[in-house]
Amino acid sequence: MKSWISGLLLAVLVIFLAGCKLEPQNTRNFVEEDKLAVVTTIYPMYDFVKNIAGDQAEVINLVPAGMEPHDFELSTGDMRLLEQAEVFVYNGAGMEHFVDKTLEALDNDRLLTVEAAAGISAETTEEGHKDPHTWLSVANAIVEAEAIKEALIQADPANREYYEERFAAYRDRLEKLDERYRKELSACAGDTIVVAHEAFGYLCREYGLKQEAIEGLTADSEPDSARMREIIDLCRRQDIRVIFFEELVSPKVAEAIADEVGAKTLVLNPIEGLSGGQQEQGLDYIGLMEENLEALKQALQ
Ligand code: ZN
Repeated sequence: MKSWISGLLLAVLVIFLAGCKLEPQNTRNFVEEDKLAVVTTIYPMYDFVKNIAGDQAEVINLVPAGMEPHDFELSTGDMRLLEQAEVFVYNGAGMEHFVDKTLEALDNDRLLTVEAAAGISAETTEEGHKDPHTWLSVANAIVEAEAIKEALIQADPANREYYEERFAAYRDRLEKLDERYRKELSACAGDTIVVAHEAFGYLCREYGLKQEAIEGLTADSEPDSARMREIIDLCRRQDIRVIFFEELVSPKVAEAIADEVGAKTLVLNPIEGLSGGQQEQGLDYIGLMEENLEALKQALQ
């Protein structure tokens, strides 16, 4: 190849790579100086903080819309953001594997760190793994929202009353949703759901259901054919009519199983992140949990 052609290709490649580095999550900064600077990890944390902090905080979420969060890694831009932050809210319970190392590496003495799920007793799978998806029980969401409220007050005591009032209003909405879950699910005939990844342990524990997961605790593992066979047999035995899938991962396996047993597929959202479309529609944790409840009722009727 002539050297000027390879030079041109190199130039194109450099421009392309530079373009990739300019993704918005790497260039984010806190801009509102009079507000509390809060960094959150995953969408539910972001939504809880927004509901309680209102217009007193500028909140930036690390995992971008549309990204599956289990294998999320921090960029240098994210580290810079955490160095500017006053409060850092993460879920914990093993969800964000990067947190311990990040906090060690961080040079930010004023940062107040909150593990929202610290007060929740861990749910483990049959294999003994800790389930990180605490927020999928509305009762847990209330515990997490309260931990966040306490942290906001500690970081910004001048606005205590404001945070207390907003938390109380949000807790009322969550309690109504929790009540609906208990009432409407206990009226359903079935109790077993077939789901894409093992994210619904807390939801099942709280509301008396059982989950059978095609994949493990993270959504990126590949199911083996023996597990698919097991699920297909179980669907036939228990007359399962709905196979749940989720929007941030491919529905192919769920569709294959549904085809095989004559079931339909529906979305059951683990609310680990919003898709771009959901963000535009203004959907939030409560709205998505309402959609999940409707889907669960269809599957269990
Ligand atoms: Zn998950």
